[in-house]
Amino acid sequence: MKLTDNIYFYPETGMLDANTYVIKDEMNILVDPGASRKTPSLVRAMQKDGIKPEDIKIILNTHLHLDHYEGCQDFKKLSGARILIHPKQEEFYDYSVNQVAQFFGMPVLEFKADAQIEADIFKNSPLGLEIVYAPGHSSDSICFYSKKEKFLVCGDVIFQANTGRVDFPGGSAARLKQSIEELSKMDIEYLLPGHMDIIAGADNVKKNFQYVKNNVFEWL
Ligand SMILES: [Zn+2]
Ligand SMILES: [Zn+2]
Repeated sequence: MKLTDNIYFYPETGMLDANTYVIKDEMNILVDPGASRKTPSLVRAMQKDGIKPEDIKIILNTHLHLDHYEGCQDFKKLSGARILIHPKQEEFYDYSVNQVAQFFGMPVLEFKADAQIEADIFKNSPLGLEIVYAPGHSSDSICFYSKKEKFLVCGDVIFQANTGRVDFPGGSAARLKQSIEELSKMDIEYLLPGHMDIIAGADNVKKNFQYVKNNVFEWL
C-alpha cells in the first residue's frame, strides 16, 4: 500500500510477522521482510504497487528479532538485494538472535548479512535518510528517518498507544524511555511501527508520544 510517492506499507499477517516497508530512494530499500511465509503475498502486494522484487537493492532490519528478519533470505533469493547489518546489530547479535530464541525455547535462525551498513550509505539520499539508534526494546534497535518526507520507521520502539516489550534479553525500560523521549522531539508526519497500524499526521503522532509517556511509561 502506497503511503507517499516514496514509502509503501505492507502490514503484518499474524503471529511472528512484522510490518514491512519499502523506501524508494537513491537505492530502493526493503525494511523488515517479516515472516518467511509472508514473502509470496508480500511480493504480490508490491507488484500491485508497481514494485518488482528486483527493484529492491538493499534489505535492512530495524532490529534482529526473528519476526522482523526471518524472511530476509527468502526475499534476497527473489530480488538479488544485499542484506546489510548495522554495527549495533553485529555488536548485540547474541542478545537479539541467540538469547531471544532461547527465551522462547525456539531454534536459532542465523541472520546472514552480506555486508555492514556503510557509514555514508545515505550520503546521496534524496529523502535525506538517517539512521537513529534507539535501544530499549532491544540493544540493537535502529530507526530510519527521512527529513524530507518526515517519516520514521521505528520498529518495535513505539506503537499506537504502546511501546515494545522490555523484558527480552537486551531490553531496558530506562533506555527505551530515553529513546522515546529523543524520538518525540523529531518532526514526524508518518510514524511507521513494526506492529499494528501506522500513525499519520503530525498532531496524531505528537498525541501518541504524549499518550505513551503519560500512560505506558509507569508500567515499564
Ligand atoms: Zn522486537
Ligand atoms: Zn517485532
